[in-house]
Amino acid sequence: MLKAAYYEGNRRVRVGECKPIEPAPGQVQIKVSHCGICGSDLHMFHGAMDHRFRVPHVFGHEMSGTVHAIGEGVGGFAPGDHVTVRPLDPCGACPACRAGHSHVCQRLKFIGFDAPGALQTLWTVPAHTLHRLPQSLPLEKAALVEPVAVACHDVRLAEVKNGEYVVVQGGGPIGILIALVARHAGARVTLTEVNPFRLKLARDLGLEAINPREIDPVNYVNEHTETAGADVVFEVSGSAAGAETMTQLARVRGRIVVVAIFSAAPKVDLFRFFWRELRLLGARVYEPQDFEQAIALTASGALPLDRLISEVSPLEAVQSALERLGSGGEVMKILIRCGE
Ligand SMILES: [Zn+2]
Ligand SMILES: [Zn+2]
Repeated sequence: MLKAAYYEGNRRVRVGECKPIEPAPGQVQIKVSHCGICGSDLHMFHGAMDHRFRVPHVFGHEMSGTVHAIGEGVGGFAPGDHVTVRPLDPCGACPACRAGHSHVCQRLKFIGFDAPGALQTLWTVPAHTLHRLPQSLPLEKAALVEPVAVACHDVRLAEVKNGEYVVVQGGGPIGILIALVARHAGARVTLTEVNPFRLKLARDLGLEAINPREIDPVNYVNEHTETAGADVVFEVSGSAAGAETMTQLARVRGRIVVVAIFSAAPKVDLFRFFWRELRLLGARVYEPQDFEQAIALTASGALPLDRLISEVSPLEAVQSALERLGSGGEVMKILIRCGE
């Protein structure tokens, strides 16, 4: 049977029959192999996106799969090709799109929330979202390309250079991936995280990781930089404490990148921006080149990605996966097997 995971509202996910959609001109139908569950899916599960779709809604956007059927006018792909999807569908006409920033289109459709997602056997998407995967890259691991692309985008926007000192606040999947990509770029990285399971995993990956409730990160960074501060601070914790310390951690002319989604406006020390001539950057999703870099990095084996995968489970486990993620369970990345 072709299956799909349907979010039905009220923290319920039901597994039901997948209703395949024939690819229209310009579309491709993919046989989904694996799909990761992430923090955004958890937001949705908690009801924060109920205004963006009608239930029942198929979600999921961190996927890998093979091309199954091709719509009219689509070139460059053949059935059986391994692919992943950059789940952005920009309007192409708004001022942001016209200025070349279609990844943050003013009417951006994020596929998986604003359109049906990947947690199903057969998934039809616009062909422009496809990126080819090397056949040598296992499809299970390839489901991590999307979150790795987030990290590549963040590190690229921050212009992290070899030899720089980077602090990452928050050690969930994205924080850890930013730390790994920044380290790969030659930076020295310190990660701060309060959850003991995540701290241990970060240390197992060879990352320098501290608990800010035990060690004051500002003192720590000052001690390790002859009081200069960090070249780059990534705020991925989304916490009030993180918003307060990010300005304390950055050196003169340092860069601060806000990656976390703050649902309420946090307190930020603007004096520090003036005093140290700091730069603040926002980083939201990714551009095609970030996906290409993420595919190359994932395929190269340069990052210890396998250790981030806590479990690989069938579609029937989506509900419990979201519940465990929501209750701070001892899981990092949960992958769902969408194929038979
Ligand atoms: Zn995600
Ligand atoms: Zn647009």
